[in-house]
Amino acid sequence: MVVGVLALQGSFNEHIAVLKRLGVKGVQIRKPEQLQNVSSLIIPGGESTTMAKLAEYHNLFPALREFVKMGKPVWGTCAGLIFLADKAIGQKTGGQELIGGLDCTVHRNFFGSQIQSFETELPIPGIVAKEGGPPSCRAVFIRAPAIIEVGPDVEVLADIPVSSSETANSNPAIQSEEESTKSEKKVIVAVKQGNLLATAFHPELTADTRWHSYFLKMVPEVEDGTSAIVSTSSVD
Ligand code: GLN
Repeated sequence: MVVGVLALQGSFNEHIAVLKRLGVKGVQIRKPEQLQNVSSLIIPGGESTTMAKLAEYHNLFPALREFVKMGKPVWGTCAGLIFLADKAIGQKTGGQELIGGLDCTVHRNFFGSQIQSFETELPIPGIVAKEGGPPSCRAVFIRAPAIIEVGPDVEVLADIPVSSSETANSNPAIQSEEESTKSEKKVIVAVKQGNLLATAFHPELTADTRWHSYFLKMVPEVEDGTSAIVSTSSVD
């Protein structure tokens, strides 16, 4: 099997390297027609405004939206998560084009700027149930977003106590902008909705391959045809 990795900008090479370690070929996707050669797609982390501008330049948005609507597995990490969200807030200037399909609201820079990036042990019961291994994974958050609202069809795979992140509490922009999240104890950092997987952190930057294995099992041909491709209601 071949997995497409959107290669406009960001950590696409790192994803391809992890896929290789799992014996799977990852191919770089830069043009709309290249999406026809793959049955699943990873959208890497990077900088979502830049990625959106490049996607627009290459006329990729219609093909990416179609890919999601067809029910093909798509995994967005960090900026990729922002890309998949139906709604993004926290932009410095105006909005940006999104692929959408994932019924959630994402705060683009919830955990702050580059210097507020951090690593943590993240409990991942949903992943452990499928992949085994230790109860948590090392999660790398780089200028990371967080999911602050999800729709009814979204399964939460991991969340993180906001109090454990000094950055979130000490970021005045977040405190003034996110009154609703201030009172909450946790924010969501990994979700699944039908064919869509999204993580606010970077599994491709650690040695733990369980997130990639989990995603590969969402691809019907890997699941031996047992997991039917089902288009989610929010993207119909
Ligand atoms: N917060 C960043 C953005 O807007 C994403 C950071 C990342 O992908 N590491 O685009």
